[in-house]
Amino acid sequence: MRILVVGQGIAGTALAWALLRRGATVHVADGDLPHPASTAAAGLINPVTGKSYVKTWRYDDFFPVARRFYADMEAALGVRIWSEVRVLRVLDTPQAANDWTARSGDPAYAGLLGTCAHAGPWQPCVHYSGLWGETLGAARVDFPQLLNAFRAHFIRQGLFLHKKITPEAAVGTAPDYDAVVFCEGWRGALNPFFPNLPWRLTVGEALLIRLALPAAASLCDVLKKNLLVIPLHDGLVWAGATYRHWQPTDPVPTPDTAAIEYELRQLLRVPFEVVGVASGIRPTVRDRRPLMGSSAQRPDFFIFNGLGTKGTLLAPYWAEHLAQHLLEGSALSLEVRLDRP
Ligand SMILES: Cc1cc2nc3c(=O)[nH]c(=O)nc-3n(C[C@H](O)[C@H](O)[C@H](O)COP(=O)(O)OP(=O)(O)OC[C@H]3O[C@@H](n4cnc5c(N)ncnc54)[C@H](O)[C@@H]3O)c2cc1C
Repeated sequence: MRILVVGQGIAGTALAWALLRRGATVHVADGDLPHPASTAAAGLINPVTGKSYVKTWRYDDFFPVARRFYADMEAALGVRIWSEVRVLRVLDTPQAANDWTARSGDPAYAGLLGTCAHAGPWQPCVHYSGLWGETLGAARVDFPQLLNAFRAHFIRQGLFLHKKITPEAAVGTAPDYDAVVFCEGWRGALNPFFPNLPWRLTVGEALLIRLALPAAASLCDVLKKNLLVIPLHDGLVWAGATYRHWQPTDPVPTPDTAAIEYELRQLLRVPFEVVGVASGIRPTVRDRRPLMGSSAQRPDFFIFNGLGTKGTLLAPYWAEHLAQHLLEGSALSLEVRLDRP
C-alpha cells in the first residue's frame, strides 16, 4: 500500500513509522509551516496531572506502547530520545499535602506517587523547603532530536517531500497513493476535507533558560509548581507553559512570557538567563480526544490529529491504531472517530 503522510510533527512522524514497520510504502511531506506544536514541546509524559492529581486518560494502556515505540525509533535511528524522569511537585498547603497523601493511598495509583522531604540537586536552587510530591512513571522524549533524525532518515531514502501540500495538490497527487493522511497539527482546523471538527486551539509558550550554576547540567528531575521546569541538556532548562485559546481567524499573538518569568522567580532562588522562547499552537479539541478517520467527501483522505496537550503519550498508541486500520482494515475506536457523540 502507498500512503502520503502530510505533516511531520509527532503525529505524522509516529504514523509514518508505524506504517513503515508494517511494510507500507510511505512518503512524508512537510512545508515547515509557522507555529508547529512539536518543536515547542518539552515532550513530557506526566502520569498524574491537574489540581486533583488525576491519572492521565488510559495512561496504563498508552505508556508501555510509548516506551516500546520510542525505544524502537532510538535503536533504528541511532539517537537517544527517551529518558525516564521523576516529577517533583511543590505541596505548599496543608490541603495539597492531604490530597496528595490520599491519592497516594489509592490502589490505582500504586507505584506512581510518593513524597520526599528534599528535592535532591534541585534543593539549593529553590526557595521552597517543604514537602514534595514525587511522581514516578514519567518520561521525556527529545522531540527536536527525534524529528530531525526521522527527517534525515526519510531524506536519505528519498521518501521526504519538503513542501506544503495544498488541498488542490492533495487531490492532484491522490492517484499516486492509496491513501493521503493529513497530520497537520493546528492547520487541520483549516482543512476543507474535514470541516466542523470540535477544535479548541490553544497557543502555548515556554522559556528556555540557563541557570547560573555549575551543576545545572546534572539536574534531571522535573519540578512542578504553577509551571513545569524541565532540564533538557547541557544545562538548558525549559519552563512553561502558557495556555491561550485561539482561533485561526485571529492574528497569532506575540509571545507573552512575563507570567512564566514571574513564576520562575517565585520558585528559583538561583539567577537564570533567558536564552530563548519556544512557542506553538496546540491542536486541542473540545473533548480532549484525538481525531482520526476518513473524509466524508474523499474516502481516501484521512486525518490524524487532535493530540492536544499530550502528543508524546498519545502519538505512538494511536498511530499504531490508525496504521492497523489503514493496512489491515481493523475498526477505529469510537473514542477517537470523527462521528463520536
Ligand atoms: C509550548 C508547548 C508545550 C508543550 N509541551 C508538551 C509536553 O511537554 N508533552 C506533550 O505530550 N505535549 C506537549 N505539547 C503538545 C504537543 O506539542 C502536541 O500534542 C503535538 O506536538 C502535536 O503534534 P502534531 O504533529 O499533531 O502537530 P505539529 O507539531 O503542529 O505538526 C504539524 C506539522 O505539519 C506540517 N504541516 C501542516 N500542514 C501542512 C501541509 N498542508 N503541508 C505540509 N506540511 C504541513 C507543519 O509544518 C508541522 O511540521 C506542548 C505544546 C506546546 C505548544
